Amino acid sequence: MRKATAKNTFQSTTEVKKRVSHRIYPQRRCLKPDCQVLFTPRYKQQTHCCDQHRIDRNNDARTTKDLPGKMLEKTFQHNQRVLKKLYAACIRLNTTSIPYDYLSIEEYNHECFTNRTINEVTRVHVYWCYHYGIERIKDTRNFIIHYRENL
Ligand SMILES: [Zn+2]
Repeated sequence: MRKATAKNTFQSTTEVKKRVSHRIYPQRRCLKPDCQVLFTPRYKQQTHCCDQHRIDRNNDARTTKDLPGKMLEKTFQHNQRVLKKLYAACIRLNTTSIPYDYLSIEEYNHECFTNRTINEVTRVHVYWCYHYGIERIKDTRNFIIHYRENL
């Protein structure tokens, strides 16, 4: 951090020498969260103490912005795999109902679904993860798994 500040001071000094205008902008804090050093901007729009911190911050912002999306996508895929597996088990065992505990064992995330529809017959919500969806069987802790070909 100290290194960057020293470098910046050096750059500012050389810049001032080169310039005709000797305008000095008021000091501001570097926007990189773990830096926040006070620096004297070389130009009006300068928001970071040095180019590296501007690049770092933009990269960090991009990564954290994408992270929830990537995590969400992974969870959708995970949920779908769980439902696909349990759906196949239902067919094999000739049953339609899956106990809630089975979903828990497979670490199914009930808060993540790609969309929600209403079963016109039962009037209960179906929570989908792409091709597979779960519907709670009223007044029980069991679920029905639905499959749809088209999304
Ligand atoms: Zn900085």
